[in-house]
Amino acid sequence: MTNLFVKNDSPHRRFAKSSLAGHTFMTSLRKPLRLNVGFIVSADVGFSNEFPFDYEKIQVDEELDLRNFRGSAIVGRTPQGLLLTGGFEATISAQCVRCLRDFDYTIHWEMTELYAFNEKSVTDSGLILSDDAHIELAPLVRDYALTEVPISPVCKPDCQGLCAECGQDLNIKDCGHHPDQDDTPFASLKDLLKN
Ligand SMILES: [Zn+2]
Ligand SMILES: [Zn+2]
Repeated sequence: MTNLFVKNDSPHRRFAKSSLAGHTFMTSLRKPLRLNVGFIVSADVGFSNEFPFDYEKIQVDEELDLRNFRGSAIVGRTPQGLLLTGGFEATISAQCVRCLRDFDYTIHWEMTELYAFNEKSVTDSGLILSDDAHIELAPLVRDYALTEVPISPVCKPDCQGLCAECGQDLNIKDCGHHPDQDDTPFASLKDLLKN
């Protein structure tokens, strides 16, 4: 599948047509994660349809761009609502906490959510299918993706970080500075143990 959505795309190309297993649906480039599921609502219980995603770049949060966003969502008709199960991956930019360099980090997640037909069937997520029979996946994708963003990303397990004295990236070269023994956490720990 070709990439249908890139940020800053021309406003004149708001919609792209894509064909999937004989079923043609419209994907809005402004809302690339909005699914038209009316045909599933009107189908028999047990019917399901897969929606594949492959976007070069989408923005789901002011702070978070997802690149190479790929995956698929299967939306199935149940008596209580539409059950969505999906698996996704995306590349994000992260800053290494040791050497402060930006690097690409791949996140993956799976999700299962019920879009209930009415209040009676609603789950803890509180999702109810909208009257216009569309599922807007963006807020869910945002929430799931944000929980996968590492709190202390490290560019590689053996990243040497920056020299505390001159700021040299120690992955590139050793500047020759060595931390003063008294400044290490072990030194202060020793002081504590003495008292
Ligand atoms: Zn690093
Ligand atoms: Zn140094």
